[in-house]
Amino acid sequence: MSIVIIGGGVIGSAIAYELTRQRPGCEVVVVERDPSYAQASSALSASSIRQQFSTDINVQISAYGIGFLRNVGSLLACNGDVPDIGLHEGGYLYLATAAGEATLRDNHGLQKRHGADVALLTPAELAARFPWLALQDVTLGSLGLSGEGWFDGYLLLTALRKKAQSQGVCYVADEAMGFDLAASDGVQHVAAVRLKSGATLPCSQVVNAGGPWAGAIAAWAGIALPVVGRRRTVFHLASPAQLPRCPLLIDTSGIWLRPEGSGFIAGFAPPADQDADFAPLDPEYHAFEEHVWPLLAERIPGFEALRMQGAWAGYYEMNTFDHNAIVGLSPDCDNLVFANGFSGHGLQQCPAVGRGVAELLLTGGYQSLDLSPLSITRIARNAPLLEKNVI
Ligand SMILES: Cc1cc2nc3c(=O)[nH]c(=O)nc-3n(C[C@H](O)[C@H](O)[C@H](O)COP(=O)(O)OP(=O)(O)OC[C@H]3O[C@@H](n4cnc5c(N)ncnc54)[C@H](O)[C@@H]3O)c2cc1C
Repeated sequence: MSIVIIGGGVIGSAIAYELTRQRPGCEVVVVERDPSYAQASSALSASSIRQQFSTDINVQISAYGIGFLRNVGSLLACNGDVPDIGLHEGGYLYLATAAGEATLRDNHGLQKRHGADVALLTPAELAARFPWLALQDVTLGSLGLSGEGWFDGYLLLTALRKKAQSQGVCYVADEAMGFDLAASDGVQHVAAVRLKSGATLPCSQVVNAGGPWAGAIAAWAGIALPVVGRRRTVFHLASPAQLPRCPLLIDTSGIWLRPEGSGFIAGFAPPADQDADFAPLDPEYHAFEEHVWPLLAERIPGFEALRMQGAWAGYYEMNTFDHNAIVGLSPDCDNLVFANGFSGHGLQQCPAVGRGVAELLLTGGYQSLDLSPLSITRIARNAPLLEKNVI
């Protein structure tokens, strides 16, 4: 009987790739309802990786992730095709005002303990390195010197998928609609996954990799998973301003910006009271003129001349409990595994999560990095694993 993975985005595909890498011949079926990935987060993201998180587990996950991304060409080479995801280690730069300085220092200590190559910079050091920044309110910056940057996320998705298929994984273009549940000794068990086509897939184990739509899948087993889709808009910008060595900038306002081709991309988080679940994926064009541009021009005076060339929107698969991934076996269903709720950082987490979930499925436990801090059991214990650096 197969391991069935529902959802073939980066998370489902990374798990499928790892399962068949760790155990060649392992029977794996990925059910993906939209092979064009038109609304999948994996195809709509800003495709960046950072070491600058505020929890141990996220920094450890990123340390593994960057090594994987650096070696994608050899790891995911397939039938003579060597994928090049164009990883550019341009760094993240977090800026802080006096109010945010202590948090930046705390996070820096935690990141250094895990070996992250990050540096705290004074305003004078920032001005010397990035003379195009206006720093009047800034008291400290934190810069990733290596191990952080951006890449082609869609290419990573297709490379993982192709490699998984070359290792024998079967992708089924269909929609999973429900579970056939069985129970023994009072414990629930997924016997099969029902598909829209009318087919059923008997399964030994099943993985929920449904991205923003993971909550609906968990509900088939009567489980309340606090994951919803929250729209995030990315603006594509052009400007004559030159910003030498521009990193991925996280402004004190929460707005982010990074180079993309000959221009830039930028985004923001809407205020909580305007952040509806599953808002239609229309870009919030009005927010650019009203909110994003004025703040960007304040921070980067050269951006007085800035043109929006286009925009797109995708869903963050937001874990509303604590903004961190929910990974591992369900306590309420003995063969259902979650890989959900990445809250805007799932692309960079797919290498470590793919490896860990495959270990769990094949051996019953984590063999390399222990992902148990991400277990869903923290919700019942009301013990949030709060990530402060949610962008
Ligand atoms: C604007 C934006 C910027 C982002 N920037 C970054 C970033 O810089 N760095 C980073 O690491 N992350 C970033 N992310 C987050 C990242 O894109 C996601 O965390 C990651 O792609 C999640 O992958 P996934 O496979 O879980 O979800 P998805 O890519 O959404 O895949 C889930 C798949 O499941 C399928 N599916 C769902 N339900 C069913 C069903 N019932 N039957 C069959 N198929 C089903 C869907 O069709 C979909 O293809 C960003 C996201 C957005 C929206």
